[in-house]
Amino acid sequence: MLTSAANDIPDASGAELARLDALLEAMPLAVAVFDGTLALVATNARYRDLTGLDTAQAVGRSIYDAFPNALADLTEQVDIAAGGVPVVSVRVPFQHRGGRRLVEATFVPLTDARGGRGVLFGGSDVTEREELREDLARSVAQLESIFDVLPDSVRVVDADGSTVRTNAQAQLEHAPARPETLRELWQLDRPRTLGGTTLFVHEHPTARALRGERVRGETLEVRRGVGGTPAVIEVNSNPLYDPHRRVRGAVTVERDVTERTRLEQQVRTEADRLERMVQERTSELLALQEAASRDRRLAAVGQLAAGVMHDVNNALNPIMAAAYLLEMNAENPVAVRDYAVRIARAAETGAATAARVGRFIRQEPLLGSREESVDLSVMVEEVVAMTRPLWQERAKGGVVKLEQSLAPKAMVRGIAGELREALLNLVQNALDAMAGGGTLRIRTVGEASEVSVAVSDTGVGMSAEVRERAFEPFFTTKGVNGTGLGLAEVYGIARRHRGRAEIESMPGEGTTVRLVFPAGAPDRPPVVEAPRRPRQVRRILLVEDHMDSREFMQALLESDGHTVRAVRNLEEARELLEDDSFALDVLVTDIGLPDGSGWDLVAFARERRPALRIGVVTGWEPRNEQDPACDFTLRKPVGAADLLAEIAGPA
Ligand code: ADP
Ligand code: MG
Repeated sequence: MLTSAANDIPDASGAELARLDALLEAMPLAVAVFDGTLALVATNARYRDLTGLDTAQAVGRSIYDAFPNALADLTEQVDIAAGGVPVVSVRVPFQHRGGRRLVEATFVPLTDARGGRGVLFGGSDVTEREELREDLARSVAQLESIFDVLPDSVRVVDADGSTVRTNAQAQLEHAPARPETLRELWQLDRPRTLGGTTLFVHEHPTARALRGERVRGETLEVRRGVGGTPAVIEVNSNPLYDPHRRVRGAVTVERDVTERTRLEQQVRTEADRLERMVQERTSELLALQEAASRDRRLAAVGQLAAGVMHDVNNALNPIMAAAYLLEMNAENPVAVRDYAVRIARAAETGAATAARVGRFIRQEPLLGSREESVDLSVMVEEVVAMTRPLWQERAKGGVVKLEQSLAPKAMVRGIAGELREALLNLVQNALDAMAGGGTLRIRTVGEASEVSVAVSDTGVGMSAEVRERAFEPFFTTKGVNGTGLGLAEVYGIARRHRGRAEIESMPGEGTTVRLVFPAGAPDRPPVVEAPRRPRQVRRILLVEDHMDSREFMQALLESDGHTVRAVRNLEEARELLEDDSFALDVLVTDIGLPDGSGWDLVAFARERRPALRIGVVTGWEPRNEQDPACDFTLRKPVGAADLLAEIAGPA
């Protein structure tokens, strides 16, 4: 194909020409050679494809006509090259049959054998490359704007930790300083963990990434801005690799989470506070409910027990009367006397039961006269000494250990007998709960305002229901072995002593019952019992509607030598009191009478006859015993000795 060109290379052999021809054809460039007249003398396949000319059309064409489908005017470049100056890499668009192509064109001047000037055209199709370049430029521009618009700070460093790139946010955060290296950044930030540990520079997430680690979600506290305000950031850092998998840098992304952390903290604190509040309110409510329902039930049961007690007493009084009379009047017969003793014993047993119920019901404060100073610590020791011999048996083979913690003085004012009874009941219950052994703990505490004694065991404990009902009279879980009166009595005794009784218990863990009393006044010298005086005959008016009781008391008083006038109601009694000719020393009246309250009669009598000695006999009526209008009060069932002593009166 280099036929014409062969003229310019006179020494070329035929074989060499053929090789050059093949080389030209195979070139990845479009090539065209123009002679000194600027006529086309040689082309290759790429040129023909680009221009759409075949060999026949091409050869001999003027250079100005050799690019018919070029979309730009090439005259200037051609002239320059023809003038002897090469024109390199001009971008020229061509309308190719497959679409638009972009060609990088080069025109090089040639000199032929005759000294004529020629031109060599070389065209490289750069369409694809150019498209790729444009795509890349677009992508880079896009990435760049994303990079800058990110709310996070992004920093790229090289393997030495020198800053390579930062986005707008990163620059903003460190303005006006522009940290050039990781070390400078670290000095500005002074990063610390939330626990307060300051990080060394090599512990910085970026430093770790430079050692090949991927750091994820590290939360740190740093100083920001001119004032060094603390901020909390969340940091991610990744190593950047070169094609040989060597770390060539790192990219670190930081997000400011100060506000989020503050809010989280606030929410957490608030949630904790709410939860605590709900818990407090709930337990207050539960305690209130428990107390309220217990009070209601105790009140109801108290009422019931009061009624029962009244009936029991009315039945017991005549038994006691019969016993007394039998004993006093029987001439000789041993059998009769024995019978009388038995009746009395039976009656006393019944009376004792009634008294226990009574100690529960009688919750009004004690009579001042019967109170004494009692040291609960001393009393605990007494009760332990009294009961200890029984522990082994009660524990059914197990061992009961004792732990005592006794205040040096635990003084309360009250009735020693009742307090002892209460402690005995508590110790008994504790032992019952520890079949198989355990630890009995008794503790007294003496404080300025309150004195308490607590009896604890490591026994079976109580369910919520048992705990709730334990103070009710007759409530027992022990079947025939229990009376259900122990804790009821304890409760009544505590109330009578102006104190309270509390239970803490968990099933399987044990129980503590605590009695709390107001602290007692200092000891008074013990009251010396006055020696019995010779009996004086009294004239007595007895008011009692219940026949058996009335007859019992009348017989009893008369057997002691007194004169007794017995009536059944208020009306009869008033009539006698109004009759000035009716001489009288003592009035004894029941309270529950068919036509009114005995208390009215007391008031009436006090007014009519101020000097009269007045006593009341009560079963269950809730009235203060210290009523100033009466001189003495007797409780049913009335003990014979008590009645006679009161009638005799003070010295
Ligand atoms: P009793 O002992 O005759 O059953 P209490 O009034 O003394 O009557 O006690 C009532 C109930 O309270 C008992 O039956 C028992 O269920 C429960 N209780 C009392 N004290 C304890 C205790 N220390 N441990 C476990 N349960 C007890
Ligand atoms: Mg008991």
